[in-house]
Amino acid sequence: MIISGKELSARLKADMAAEVATFPARYGRVPHLAVILVGEDPGSVSYVTGKAKASAEVGIRNTTIRRPDTISEEELLGIVAELNADAGVDGILVQLPLPRHISEERVIAAIDKAKDVDGFHPLNVAALWQKQPCTLPCTPKGIIKMLKAAGVELAGREAVVVGRSNIVGLPVAKLLLDENATVTVAHSRTRDLAEVTRRAEILVVAIGRPKFVTADMVAEGAVVIDVGVNRDPETGKLCGDVDYAAIEPKASVITPVPGGVGPMTICCLMENTIECFLRTRK
Ligand code: NDP
Repeated sequence: MIISGKELSARLKADMAAEVATFPARYGRVPHLAVILVGEDPGSVSYVTGKAKASAEVGIRNTTIRRPDTISEEELLGIVAELNADAGVDGILVQLPLPRHISEERVIAAIDKAKDVDGFHPLNVAALWQKQPCTLPCTPKGIIKMLKAAGVELAGREAVVVGRSNIVGLPVAKLLLDENATVTVAHSRTRDLAEVTRRAEILVVAIGRPKFVTADMVAEGAVVIDVGVNRDPETGKLCGDVDYAAIEPKASVITPVPGGVGPMTICCLMENTIECFLRTRK
């Protein structure tokens, strides 16, 4: 079974659009997402364009604030402060990565927790790890939605997450734990990675290396979630962290790249924006 994040996200966005259409009558306006893009990194530009497109589909107002990569940290913090104070803005997203002279940590921490639609603010991260209500980071949230939509049983099962970043690996491991999976987190210092990944009934890979996970590293019948977004060095096309062609026949469930986790991430960003909007209304 191939889980199409493209199709699932299209269905979820249609449901959200129907809900958002009722907001002007109920609340006087639609949710408003402000996205800050610093510089012109092609990857970042394409992510920001995707977020604007999804906002339009769902009926969310989207403002993209573009600044050159020469902007100072102080100026950027000034923009964040203005958006924090603006009652007409419900969600704030600073597209990462930021130029080296700007501290991502400081900028993220400056965003009002209630408007942190990425779920990266330290208070949201703390709330996640303490099982308190919070805004969940979009990619891990999307992964759990995909697994549930595919009817994958998580409780009691052996899950292996490869990658331990703050934005994907660690939070997805926590969400899998919350679903009562038995979770192993592997990383670049893991000894005999293939032996660890072969134990996985559910394998989530988020490392950023094209086709790194080969068929011999995956158990027959495993559920494989490929988070990676890479350029195939041979073809120049987008590819994931797993060797899809070789693993698809072995896996019971797998996500493609593109069209898998990526669209679900943007879909969850829309959901988070609506959640932030509704929280301040209630
Ligand atoms: P990071 O670079 O922040 O983290 C990579 C992780 O992979 C690290 O924990 C690193 O280990 C581990 N790793 C690297 N090489 C190996 C290796 N050879 N063996 C085992 N582990 C390894 O990446 P991100 O988590 O931000 O992103 C991962 C991938 O997911 C990227 O391709 C990114 O583009 C993609 N991505 C996709 C999203 C989507 O919506 N589809 C959203 C976010 C990211 P260590 O900690 O030891 O260095």
